Amino acid sequence: MHSPQWLTCAPFYHRRAETPVKGRIALVGDAYHLFSPLGAQGLNAGLQDAFNLAWKLAYIEKDWGNPALLVTSYREEREAIAKLIATVTSKTTKYITATSLPTRVFRHWATWYYNKTERVQEKLPSLLAGLMQSYGPHAFLSGDSDDGLPQAGERIPHAWLPDGQAQKPLASLIHGTKYTLLLVKDRLDENSIKSIERFWNGFNRSRYPFLQLIIISRETAAWQRRVPGDCQLIDDRLGSTFEALNECRKGMILIRPDGFCALSSKLWLFNDVTRYFSHRRLDGTVFDLWGNLHYAA
Ligand SMILES: Cc1cc2nc3c(=O)[nH]c(=O)nc-3n(C[C@H](O)[C@H](O)[C@H](O)COP(=O)(O)OP(=O)(O)OC[C@H]3O[C@@H](n4cnc5c(N)ncnc54)[C@H](O)[C@@H]3O)c2cc1C
Repeated sequence: MHSPQWLTCAPFYHRRAETPVKGRIALVGDAYHLFSPLGAQGLNAGLQDAFNLAWKLAYIEKDWGNPALLVTSYREEREAIAKLIATVTSKTTKYITATSLPTRVFRHWATWYYNKTERVQEKLPSLLAGLMQSYGPHAFLSGDSDDGLPQAGERIPHAWLPDGQAQKPLASLIHGTKYTLLLVKDRLDENSIKSIERFWNGFNRSRYPFLQLIIISRETAAWQRRVPGDCQLIDDRLGSTFEALNECRKGMILIRPDGFCALSSKLWLFNDVTRYFSHRRLDGTVFDLWGNLHYAA
């Protein structure tokens, strides 16, 4: 490379506002945090801030949740991630910019050696894209999880689903403002269909207007007409979802509107779903000034 037409300077800095939320002001992206570009995290982190905040604001706007709890959860979740990224990117920056001879020799060798390993090739892109970020099992919006399934607080894994002649990612089923209850079962049978019918027909949709139900199975042709009208039954002939779920043959995953796992279980424990919402005060019912109960839009 030679003869640049335009030169600019990108200093290595780390800055973070004391808090991403104060009063009615919420910060996302570089307005909240600046990381050294050598960590390659700023844009991804900013987009995830926005995703995290957007659905919570929508729930507040629709009266589907307690404003203070949702705003606090935005602050706590993104603050923890911003602190973690700052620590990691400052280490990466130090490592990449070190100039002493021993460090340069070590860096040259380590880059050559580690870049070839399967672990680095597999994990590094996900790490840099922010896909490995987790809010942890103790976050306010994290419920229980079973081993082998996505853990509460983590992003749901990637899988390809058939879509006509093409394919679509599992993540495309996520709604953006709705929670998704994903039921997976490799082979549906009469009992599983009946339990879905019982649950969904008796489910208080007015109370939880923000829940969509999606069922994934390897073989769906015989069951399409039996599935309640307003839920989707998705055929996963290739078994990609089951592979992503460590070959778990049956499972229930509640997914947040931003694609993070809220709870997971190897059994279809439908009561856990309503309990999850009520413990977190996510509820489409509101009381008006006169104490009358009614349902939010
Ligand atoms: C050299 C370099 C390399 C990078 N590489 C990566 C990378 O590989 N991966 C990665 O994830 N991130 C990377 N980043 C970081 C990434 O570019 C930023 O984190 C991201 O662009 C921030 O987006 P933002 O929308 O939050 O802020 P910005 O992109 O700064 O957008 C804010 C916008 O608001 C406008 N604005 C400001 N004030 C006002 C006002 N008063 N009224 C109206 N508009 C206003 C600004 O003009 C700007 O257009 C890199 C950054 C640099 C500098």
